[in-house]
Formats: sequence, structure tokens, C-alpha cells
Amino acid sequence: MRPVLAGYGPGPATALDDDSLARFAAIWSRAIYPVTATSMTKAEFEAHLRPLAAVLRDTLHAERFEPRAAVSVGTGLVAAHCTDPEALPSILGVIDAYLVLYCGPGADLGLPADECRARCSRLQHAVAVGFAHALRERTLREQESISRAALNAKSEAESALAASEARFRAVFETAAVGIGIADLDGTILELNAALVRMFGSEAFIRQRRTCDWLHPEHPEPPEHAGRPEHSGRPEHSGDTEDVNRELVRGERDHYQIEKAYPRADGSVLWADVQVSLLRDGAGQPRYQLALLDDVTERRRLLDRLRHQATHDALTALPNRALFFERLDQALEEPAGGPARHIGVCYLDLDGFKAVNDSLGHAVGDRLLLAVADRLRDCVTSPDQLVARIGGDEFVALYADPPDRRAVTDLAARILGALSTPVLLDDRQLPVHGSLGIVHGPVGGRGPADILRSADITMYRAKERGGNRYEVADADADARAITRHGLTNQLPSALRHHEFFVEYQPLIALEDNTVLGAEALVRWSHPVHGVLGPDRFIPLAESTGQIVPLGRWVLEQAVRQAQEWRQDTHCPGPPPRINVNLSPVQLGHRGLVADVAAVLDDSGLEPSALCLEVTESALIGADKDALEPLRRIADLGVAIALDDFGTGYSNLASLRWLPVSVLKLDRAFTLGMRRGPADPMESKIVECIVTLAHALDLTVTVEGVETRVQADHLRALGCDTAQGWYYGKAGPADRLHKLTLADTG
Ligand code: C2E
Ligand code: CA
Ligand code: CA
Repeated sequence: MRPVLAGYGPGPATALDDDSLARFAAIWSRAIYPVTATSMTKAEFEAHLRPLAAVLRDTLHAERFEPRAAVSVGTGLVAAHCTDPEALPSILGVIDAYLVLYCGPGADLGLPADECRARCSRLQHAVAVGFAHALRERTLREQESISRAALNAKSEAESALAASEARFRAVFETAAVGIGIADLDGTILELNAALVRMFGSEAFIRQRRTCDWLHPEHPEPPEHAGRPEHSGRPEHSGDTEDVNRELVRGERDHYQIEKAYPRADGSVLWADVQVSLLRDGAGQPRYQLALLDDVTERRRLLDRLRHQATHDALTALPNRALFFERLDQALEEPAGGPARHIGVCYLDLDGFKAVNDSLGHAVGDRLLLAVADRLRDCVTSPDQLVARIGGDEFVALYADPPDRRAVTDLAARILGALSTPVLLDDRQLPVHGSLGIVHGPVGGRGPADILRSADITMYRAKERGGNRYEVADADADARAITRHGLTNQLPSALRHHEFFVEYQPLIALEDNTVLGAEALVRWSHPVHGVLGPDRFIPLAESTGQIVPLGRWVLEQAVRQAQEWRQDTHCPGPPPRINVNLSPVQLGHRGLVADVAAVLDDSGLEPSALCLEVTESALIGADKDALEPLRRIADLGVAIALDDFGTGYSNLASLRWLPVSVLKLDRAFTLGMRRGPADPMESKIVECIVTLAHALDLTVTVEGVETRVQADHLRALGCDTAQGWYYGKAGPADRLHKLTLADTG
């Protein structure tokens, strides 16, 4: 049984049957067979490819992704004589186009598509590395035999053996590798057609002596340095000139390098070079023989693959894979010497989802591009790297920063870079971000741990309003982890019926009758006990879980209200039900249909339902945003403005809102709890009540805790009250008892 990605799927990869593998191998064989020099039949060749395809498939799915396993596939292909220059692009082309299609995880495995693509790119890279390596080994072997022939021919030629000279000429002229022979001073004596083709002109080659060709004229670009998967490291990349001097003095017989040369037309030739010393019959050094293999295409391909596998396609910033590669390097503990440090800044854009949802993905993409450009400028030295690791998530790595200040400076630079809005099609889009910073000595913590800490610290910055950074510390981490945990547990909590609803009575101040109740949700958490809504509603809002949760509360509450109303023992007016609606639900497309469906299913009259929306969600909302609420009001459902007075209400704007109830926040009535009321406070409440009544709104006061308070509010003209004086939130049947007690 094949290993399956942990956490990505439900079990063994049953969907990946051998049929798909065979189909993949068949396509692969069809593409490569024409460019092989194999003596196998087509069928044999296809059979040869099948185990190689299986290696690719298994590597793609391995729990721990080890792209290096695919190196053997490249080797296997060279062994099957796929050595034509055309072969590699065909080999990789088929992997690119069909591997994920035929051997990728089925939908039921749920491996994220971009992860799958990234893995596929890494696999191609590994195959190319294996291929190049095997090809070079093979070329080396060929070169060696040519060397031997040349050596024999040269010495025999000097003994004037014409036949031998002719034999040498034939080898020399028809060889596919470039061959050049020079004397010990470096004057070029002979070169073959292949070498001329490689450089573009014979005169161009002859105008320099061999030692001039050794200059590192095209030094390796720094991004190639130290790459772990590049197998083409020269045997002697250090001081080639020194090594060549040793050869000329007869102290070594050959050396090999991979090096860039200028061509006659100014372009770059990458060649794998094998230089050998030719001695005379007495063993004295006489000539230098250079064999050059053109590896330019292979290098380009490797570079492109490497780039694709390590960079984000949209922004061209380093991707998650490269970030972790660098983080791993930065976390390597030095043997001895002073302890090194590490700095990570995790950036998440504030409100990016809203841009994407309202202006579309194309605009979102352009915004990300603009952000990426700005972030690129924030990096000021080679030990810093900015990568894009998710939708609107970026991370800056600072390998061994001098102190914490240097890391917070980097974070401040990033915030600064985002402080001016992005101009897109005459539209100014503000971009802000929240940053979580981790700084500390290396050792003890793994890369995943560090990133997680930076991530939850970033959330802390978001909770404090965004557009800022926070620095990780252990205590805050622990608190955040609980929050983090709660957030992750929300979906399953709903499935496992861990939520329940309590009801708090709403009382008519005029005659103290029970008018109905407000539904308040609670979470009976298996570990933390009963959690109040303030602990989890904000989390549910930030993840969107509030939509299913809110719908569930609505269903429960409406069903409960209908039950009360059908209970013939229940005297007094038929109870109404108030349900809280989060601003996030308000932005959800299905809201109106959901409310209508819930009412329909239960049979509750729409007028018995009141949805409470906080004032901050309504004030300042434009017409479109209010449209769903208006349509709900049109159904006959009452809308209450909750927590009135806590926001920046413009009383005049109440006229435009589809609202029929005003719920006065507790803060207005605190001063009335005991003894004589504060005259100013009374005046304010009186004014609000007058205005509300003028606008045909009823006024509910929240947080009534004493009789004095209740009497005073009644005198001020408030209509309805809610608070501990009348009853705390409790189980549904308590309302029933309250009603009986009240009237009895
Ligand atoms: P809210 O809508 O303002 O609900 C009233 C809160 O005040 C409730 O807290 C209630 O227990 C508390 N309260 C009631 N009477 C008194 C009193 O006399 N004195 C004092 N000091 N407090 C009183 P709770 O249940 O913790 O709910 C907190 C908030 O959570 C609610 O504020 C509401 O905004 C939100 N919430 C509760 N259930 C839901 C829900 O199903 N959906 C959504 N979106 N939000 C909910
Ligand atoms: Ca409420
Ligand atoms: Ca309230």
C-alpha cells in the first residue's frame, strides 16, 4: 500500500489504481520513444517506463515529500538510451502535463491543487538533475575513450604512422564533443568542427590562448551558489588557473570543470570541460587536450525548473518551499562560535478578502503584485528574504539579525511600505497588514514551530486593530493557542452538538408581562466548560463559521418560539423571539433565503421574529449592504438596532434604516441602578426615547438589574426591558415558568 499524505485524505489512495499508471506510462512512452536510441521495441520500452512512472507517483504522494527519489528516474531514462538533446524536454513535458492528471490525488484525497503542482515541479527538477548527471557520466566515459585514442594517435602520428593519423582525424572531426589541442604554452594548435560550432567562429577561439579561456569571465551567478540539487559542480571550481599550471608541469593528468564561456555573438556557452595532459613516449608533457560538452540547454532547463519550483507564479517572489529551505539553513546551528539568531516577520494583509470578494480576483491579483513589489524593496541585504506563502500571506526571513531591533525595523519598513494606497485604474486601494514577529536564538525550535508562532502573533496584531506588528512571547502564545484551538474546533463543535441556546426574557415595562426572549448561544466545550459568546463569536466571525452557526441558532430559536406559541398552557400574548445577527452574516448571500426557509419550515409568523443587528454594522453601511436587511424586513420580520449608543450613531440616519426597535446599551442605564438617577443621563435617555418614538421605533433597554432602574426607565417612556432584574438567560422552559409566575 502506498503512503498517503497525512492529514490530506481519508485513507489509502485507492483512487490511484494501476490503470492510471499504465495510461501515464503509455503516453510517456509515445512521447519519448521517437527520440531514443534504444534497441527496445515500443512495448518493451513502455514496460521499462512503468516502474519509473511508479516512482514518480509514489514520490508525489509520499507523506514526507522527498523529490530526490525522482533522481533515479532521470538515471533510468539515460540507461534506456534517452540521450538525445530533444529527449529531456519531452520527458519533462509529459510529467508536467499528465502526471498530476493521471496519478494526482483524486478529489477525495483533497491534496491542495497548488501543493500538488509545486510537488510536480520539484519532481521534474529532480528528474532533470538525475538525467543530467547520468548523461554527464556517460559523456565522461566517452570523452575518456576519445582521449585515449587521441593520445595514441598523436604519439603514433609523430612516428609518422599515416594510417594512425587518418584514424585520429576521423575521430577528431566527427566527434560530437568539441575538441581542442594546445601546446604547453597555451597556443591552440588544432580544433574540431564541433568546437567551432559551439563558439560560433574559429578565429574567435584562436584569438586567445588557453590560459585566457580559463578566466572566470562568466562567474556563476550567486543564486546558483550552494544549491543542493545541482549536481553539476566542477571537480575543481576553485582556482582553475592553478590547477592548469599543475597539469602543464606534469603534476596531474587531467581535471574537469563546468564553466561559462562567451560565444562569438556575445551569448553564453556553458560547457562541461575535461582537460587532459598528453605526454610523449618518454613520459614528458607535450600537449593539452580539451574536450567540451555543450550543457547550455540543460543548465537553462534546470535553472528554469528550479525557479519554477521555488518561486510564486503570480508575484515571482520566493515561494513557501524556498522560504523553508532558507529557514532550514538559517536554523543550522554553527559548530562552536557565538550563538546565531533568527528573525521572522509574518504578514497578512488586512481586509484583503473584502477586496477580492467585492472587486474580483483580477483586482486582488494586481493588488498582490503591487504589494509584492513594495515588499521586495524592504529587503536590504542578502540575509533577508521575502516570500509569498499563501493567498495574502507573506513572510520576511532575517537570517542572523544583529538584534531584535533590526527585526522590528524590518517590520516597520514593511508597514511603512504599505502605508500608501495602491492606485489601480484610478481607484485608491488602501493596503494595510498585520505582522507577527518572532525573534530568538536558533536551536530548540523547528521551522514549523517558528512559523506557527509568527502566525498566531500576527493574529494578535489583527485583534488589536491591524496595521501594526506584535512580537511573539511565550505567554501570549499560550493564550493565542487556546484561541487558535477554539477556532479550529468550531466546525466540529457544531457537528457534535456542543452549542446550545439560552433565552433571556423581554418584558413590557408598562405591565411587566413577558413579551418574548432573546436567544443567546453558548458553547459547552468538552475541556473548557461552558463558554460565553464573547469567547467564540469573534473567532467564528473571523473564520466565516458564524454563518452556519448563526443559521443553527436561528433554527433553534424559531422552532422554540413556535413551540411556545403552540403551547396552550402558555397565557399572555404569544411570545416573540429575538435572534442576534452578526455583520458577517449580513454580508452573506444566502441570508434572506435562509431566514425565509427557517420561518417556512417552522411555520412561525414572521412578525414574531426580531433580528438584532449591532449599530456599528448598520450605521454608515451603503444602500447595497442594507438591501438584504430591507428584504428581510419586507418579509415582516422586525429588525432591532442592538447596543445602541456604543457606536457613532447619527440619530438622523435612523430614518433610512429598515429598523423598528432600538436596543439601548447597558451603558446608558448604569447610573440609574441605585438611588436618584444622574439628571444628565436621564435627559439623554429621554431624548433618545422621544426621537425613537417620533421615528416609530420602540425602545428596549438592556441590562436592567434593579427595581429602581426599571421604575425610572418606565417613567422615561422606555417600552421594553431586559436584564437580570427580570431574569438571566436560561433554558427555554424557564420562560414558561416566568410567564406563569408573572401572571399568576
Ligand atoms: P447582546 O446581544 O448585547 O446580549 C446581551 C448580553 O448582555 C448577554 O450576554 C446577556 O447575558 C447580558 N446581560 C443581560 N442582562 C444583563 C444584566 O442585567 N446585566 C449585565 N451585566 N449583563 C446582562 P451574553 O450572553 O454573554 O452575550 C454577549 C453577546 O454575544 C451578545 O450581546 C451578542 O452580541 C452576542 N451573541 C450572543 N448570542 C449570539 C448569537 O447567537 N449570534 C450572534 N451573532 N451573537 C450572539
Ligand atoms: Ca443582542
Ligand atoms: Ca445588546
